Amino acid sequence: MAQSQSARYIPADRQYPKLSKAVSGYTEVDLFKNADLHSGYFCYDCKYFIKNNHCAIVEDSGPDVNGRESGIIAPHGVCSLWYPNEEETR
Ligand code: SF4
Repeated sequence: MAQSQSARYIPADRQYPKLSKAVSGYTEVDLFKNADLHSGYFCYDCKYFIKNNHCAIVEDSGPDVNGRESGIIAPHGVCSLWYPNEEETR
């Protein structure tokens, strides 16, 4: 049976639940706090990052893959869904 036209698109006029940090594979490594966040895999240069401490698709709260709770998406964090933001990567 053919899908209706509207069933083929994800509506953009509503909120969708974000992924938990643990499911996304999110982690923060303190050693990278002062690293150059424009190079390498960091939330800071990810397309989904919302400055200063949020992500469009991963929740701020809850434990990360190491069971740690920072309550933010840190610029020096990263998860398995990282996607390059061409305006921030070098
Ligand atoms: S790497 Fe990207 S998708 Fe993952 S938590 Fe950071 S900003 Fe969000």
